[in-house]
Amino acid sequence: MSVIDHSKIRELEHRNFRNDDFWKEIPGWSSVTRGEFADHKWQMKNSIRKVEQVEKILGPKLAKEHYQDILAGQKITPMNIRITPYIFALIDWSDPLNDPLRKQFLPMGSQFIKDHPYYKSDSLSEDEDSPVPMLTHRYPDKALFLPTTICPVYCSYCTRSRIIGGSTESIEKETYGANQKKWDDVFAYLQTKPMIEDIVISGGDAYMLTPKQILYIGQNLLKIPHIRRIRLATKGIAIFPQKILTDDDWFGAVKEIHKLGKAFGKQVVIHTHFSSPREITKWSQMAMDRIFQSGIIVRNQAVLQSGVNNHVDEMVLLTRQVGFMNVQPYYVYLHDMVPGCEHFRTTLREGVELEKAVRGTTAGFNTPTFVCDLPGGGGKRHVASYEYYDEENGISVWKAPHVKPGEFFTYFDPIHKLSPDAQERWKDAATQKAMIDEALKKVK
Ligand code: SF4
Repeated sequence: MSVIDHSKIRELEHRNFRNDDFWKEIPGWSSVTRGEFADHKWQMKNSIRKVEQVEKILGPKLAKEHYQDILAGQKITPMNIRITPYIFALIDWSDPLNDPLRKQFLPMGSQFIKDHPYYKSDSLSEDEDSPVPMLTHRYPDKALFLPTTICPVYCSYCTRSRIIGGSTESIEKETYGANQKKWDDVFAYLQTKPMIEDIVISGGDAYMLTPKQILYIGQNLLKIPHIRRIRLATKGIAIFPQKILTDDDWFGAVKEIHKLGKAFGKQVVIHTHFSSPREITKWSQMAMDRIFQSGIIVRNQAVLQSGVNNHVDEMVLLTRQVGFMNVQPYYVYLHDMVPGCEHFRTTLREGVELEKAVRGTTAGFNTPTFVCDLPGGGGKRHVASYEYYDEENGISVWKAPHVKPGEFFTYFDPIHKLSPDAQERWKDAATQKAMIDEALKKVK
């Protein structure tokens, strides 16, 4: 039986882009004009950084028990609070418990459940595959460059919660900002690796790099002869589209690098991160129009999250709506096995079924590939390409022949989604090991 609830998808819903003064529903911003709300400086200045601000801005709109729940969440979450007014005002404050945007950016204590016994703060082993600070080199022809660890929002589901966004009550982090000397070491390493053609500039978020830093990084990477493709990763378009529309210096720097890339016959693209159709409004469409008109390609990488987008209607709407804005849906990731995220994780089966449901609803080139980024550093694998799946106990076994030949990788479904008997089995460490050994035996 399908784990996906198929209900009626309204065919043209993806063409509706919200364009009302929705922020005026927030008591603290009821007199903010459209012009002010459109300004990237206003958005940054008024971003929510503390729980007390949530209470102040919402006033009587925030029920006492929800405020207490948010306070409790701060004691558990590995992420600090940073939310743009754009996203904050899109939250349905009459039902914050169930709101997909609140869930992603403002955790409540009541939502957390115990981490899986095999979670890891660096689930993808990025640090292990790091030859120089700020760089992960795992795939033969591709590397991940993390020039900063700050972002314009902090997402509760962040896979790099171990370093992103500063220490919290539950975790000490070595967050870092721009460091030109370390960036130069990265460029020096890349020069010695002629196989590398593709660089993802992530973090952290490219939105937080200054125009000067974008130019510095872009020019240095593009002048390395074997580097053919650069991807600037930013969640910005999804949570702060105003920056694209009003920060001409920042967007000018991105356009400059794109132009330089074209002159060298190289690609400079943006990868963004819409995870819920609720993040999308007319502002998103206007920002995308500006990017599209400049000739820059944008692709989307969503994270599959329970209660946010693990319903076929939401995933189809998201896929169609980003496609309509000229954003190419690229990946949907199964959630990584990182701390403080067990409530967000889905089973592998949900990922497989969702991919089946989404495929065929629009053109193939506009359909995302659902992947599992293998714990332990096996890289991204299509959700249906597992070697073995013990669905009863939530254990899947995978291979990554080109990334780590001969190795086996395991991904685990969240225990609370398994049968009561399986949940019992996971309580005992010796039984856990026996179940995993048994699954590995099937493919070895
Ligand atoms: S924007 Fe990306 S790196 Fe930053 S907190 Fe969100 S998921 Fe993590």
